[in-house]
Amino acid sequence: MTATDETKGTGTRLVVDLGGVRRNYRNLVERVADTVTVAAVVKADAYGLGAHRVAPVLAAEGCTDFFVATIEEAVALRAVLPEVRIYALNGNIPGSEPDFAAHGLVPVLNDLGAVERWQAQARLAETPLRAVIHIDTGMSRLGMAASERERLEVEPQRLDGLTPSLLISHLACGEERAHPMNEAQRTRFVECARRLPPMAASLANSPGLFLGAPYHFDMVRAGAALYGINPTPYAPNPMTEVARLQGKIVALRDVDSPMTVGYGATHRVTHKGRIATIPIGYADGYPRALGNLSSGVLADGSKSDIPLPVVGRVSMDLITLDVSALPPDEATIGTYVDLFGGRRTVDDVAAEAGTIGYELLVRIGKRVPRVYHDSEVEPAPSKSGADPV
Ligand SMILES: *Cc1c(COP(=O)(O)O)cnc(C)c1O
Repeated sequence: MTATDETKGTGTRLVVDLGGVRRNYRNLVERVADTVTVAAVVKADAYGLGAHRVAPVLAAEGCTDFFVATIEEAVALRAVLPEVRIYALNGNIPGSEPDFAAHGLVPVLNDLGAVERWQAQARLAETPLRAVIHIDTGMSRLGMAASERERLEVEPQRLDGLTPSLLISHLACGEERAHPMNEAQRTRFVECARRLPPMAASLANSPGLFLGAPYHFDMVRAGAALYGINPTPYAPNPMTEVARLQGKIVALRDVDSPMTVGYGATHRVTHKGRIATIPIGYADGYPRALGNLSSGVLADGSKSDIPLPVVGRVSMDLITLDVSALPPDEATIGTYVDLFGGRRTVDDVAAEAGTIGYELLVRIGKRVPRVYHDSEVEPAPSKSGADPV
């Protein structure tokens, strides 16, 4: 998409600050010891922000290890970054092993069957293949269950032909600082690591990193924090904002007699008021749950602290905001409104929708162009000017 296309279009956009990503990466690196690697989790297209743009910025900042979920994501990332280590968390589903090998990708081995299949691939290749071993310490999702892990402990030859470079597990409650699961999982992880062949270890996601050095081991795996989601919900957000969802007013109407707004006539304008229509809806990942609940704010202008309530239900392609509180010249056709980011964070708006920043961000749909800028080089795209891409 060119800048011209973007300005001609409906205007709805997810503005992504690559400078913010860079700053967040440095922030995390500064919080861990020199011996600890900060790996980047760029699954689900870097949480919806565009892995092809985000990952190279991280690599340029010194990040050498990248996690995705699927083999498809791993292959796509390899095309962008030929040199880095790429791990697929969902592992080697049967039949995917040749693709892992062909693209130099590392599967996260989640069970003994996966170990055997990767070993068979190594035999075919006649060369040791790098592997990540995942043990479950409390998620009961992926990762070796206790019975499988114990088999591996007593039969380490099961790893013959492989280079197990990393042992991982995943925290269930990292964003609850005082939750006893954190220490319980950490203790279990340490005990398991002792009984397995020596390799680097990694337990923490973004919230885990903020639990302190005992959770860092040799590598932390950060996703959310890089994208500006608060990894410490119990405290102010230590990260820089990265993503801002904006829509442009495409219709305005003055309502001077009692009038209903939207499907189900769930909102009624009773006084003289002004309704603005923005072309974003639940098809774009703007949650339907936010109807009559959330609010936007002017993206620019002197009144950008005045809440503009979402009135009526969220439609598939449109929302309606009550802009009555603004002077008429502050809200005109083409005026940009922030729907999250800026005054109200992605975490705030997600909470209104009964979800978390992760889900709100990752569900912003394909129809919404990602507009990239770099706050370390230039300011954010303005209200009216052409957008840098
Ligand atoms: C998604 C994921 C991460 C990253 O989690 P954040 O909370 O986004 O930092 C780390 N490890 C595993 C296993 C994951 O699935």
